[in-house]
Parts: sequence; C-alpha cells; structure tokens
Amino acid sequence: MSLFSPKRKKLYEGKAKILYEGPEPGTIIQYFKDDVAGHSANHDMISGKGVLNNAISSFLMSKLGEIGVPTHLLKKLNMREQLVAQVDIIPIEVVVRNYAAGSLVKRYGLEKGKALPRAIVEYYLKKDELNNPMVSEEHITAFGVASLPEIDEIYSLAMRINDYLSGMFLGVGLRLADFKLEFGRQFLSEHELRIIVADEISPDHCRLWDMKTNMDFGHDIYHEESVDVIARFREVAARLGVFPDLTGNTDSNGDVLSMAEAAERASQSAKTKEAGSA
Ligand code: 5GP
Repeated sequence: MSLFSPKRKKLYEGKAKILYEGPEPGTIIQYFKDDVAGHSANHDMISGKGVLNNAISSFLMSKLGEIGVPTHLLKKLNMREQLVAQVDIIPIEVVVRNYAAGSLVKRYGLEKGKALPRAIVEYYLKKDELNNPMVSEEHITAFGVASLPEIDEIYSLAMRINDYLSGMFLGVGLRLADFKLEFGRQFLSEHELRIIVADEISPDHCRLWDMKTNMDFGHDIYHEESVDVIARFREVAARLGVFPDLTGNTDSNGDVLSMAEAAERASQSAKTKEAGSA
C-alpha cells in the first residue's frame, strides 16, 4: 500500500488529528488537522495550524530522540503527516508545570505566572465524560491503568523531557509554563515492551510565554480575541529554527525546510500566483 493511498484505513479521528493504518505492521500515519480541540469562543479551525504543529512536534520529538528519550515518531512524511510507531496508549494525560497557570491557579488559588519552586507532574485520567479527573499514582495503579514501574518510568521521562524542552525554549526567549504529554506501550516482542512518548508536543499542548513581554505563544491564545494564531505559532517554529513548507508543496520527503529553502519556496509560490492571476 502506498503511504498516500486514498484507500488507507482510518483507525481513529479526534478533534485535532486522524490516525490511519500505516504501510507496515506496527506503524500508523498521524495526520494533523486544522480544527481547534477543546472549547474556544473565538476559533473552531485555524488554517495552517496542523502544518505548524506537525513541523514543531516532529522537530521536538526528533530532538528528544537524539538525547535518548524514546518517542513514537519514525519520520515526518509531509506537511501534515508523520509515520509513527503503533502503541497501546496509556489513558492518562501527564501535565508538567513550571509556573502557576490554568487549572493549577483555579484549583489552589495561586498567583498566575509565579515560578514554582520545583516542577510538578500531574496525572489526569483520559475520560471525557468525567472531564478528565486528576488522579494520583495510587489511583492509576489501583485502577490497573498502569503499573508502578510504568508510572515511575513515565515520571522520570516527563521530568527529563521538561528539563530538555525548558532549556530549549529558554534559549529562544520562551518560558515553558506547562505542557501535556501522552505515553504509550510499544511492544518490542511478545514479552518485551517499553514506554514511549506518543501523541504530539506542540504549542497546542503547551503554555509558552515570551520572557520579555509575557506574550502568550501557546494554546491560551485561542481564548484571545482578534489574535493571529498562525503568526504566533509560526514565530515559535521560526525561533526554534523550524521552517515548515506552508506554500502547499508536498515533496516526497516533506522534511522541514532550511531558512533558504523556505524563502525560495515562498518566492516561487508568489511568482506562480502572480503568473496565474495575470
Ligand atoms: P490546565 O490543567 O492548566 O488546563 O492545563 C495544563 C497544560 O496541559 C496546558 O498546557 C494544556 O495545554 C495541557 N492540557 C491539559 N489537558 C489538555 C487537553 O485535553 N488538550 C490539550 N490540547 N492540552 C491539554
């Protein structure tokens, strides 16, 4: 089956992503949509968001891979798709927090923006019908959602990812206030499995604040009126040195472009449009 076969089997469709059967057993194609997940009074769909999230998440996951954090990413295929390893998703949202914001502020009455004395890892059961309740390690192990060694592994991976990503974002002038991770079990053989990072790591799942201006660059901007979400997400990508091809080209490898290639593509696309309208 070709990667781009129109007949490929859809396995799951969520608000922000679609999963298709991959070309080989144990693989899946993860497609990034433009729809905005969750409740936003101001936006339902943001054209180009999926392209940016795919590029940023591919970049961050490949960097994590370089430091030995296992992730499901096998390859970025094109503007909107990644080839990923099939996993058995552990139904827990893992939130890591460095600054007080969002539900932490509401729940505990903290002052928004305050640096926490140490990073906090929280777990939420993925149950939409119950509004994803916060759970402790005790709940997780007692309910049989994950074993104690699995939770230990998830905690230590989450802390390592937080250290690495916080440093990377600080290097480009952004504070990683908090973010959400998901993990899965990858079966290496009948008797061997490991815990790996799944889903995505993108501005959609993060609170990112500019170090100088405190301007929001994460998903909180969906709640702002008349904000150019794409411009902000594009800036996150640009600060990280990621330049996704937004001109509509779907070249065969679909890799993130260098700055020079991105400029060249943009200029070619503008020329084609001019020629078309002449
Ligand atoms: P809070 O609990 O403060 O609402 O969210 C904490 C962090 O986890 C935020 O960065 C938020 O993006 C992320 N997060 C928590 N739950 C979800 C979710 O269901 N969807 C997304 N996209 N992000 C979430």
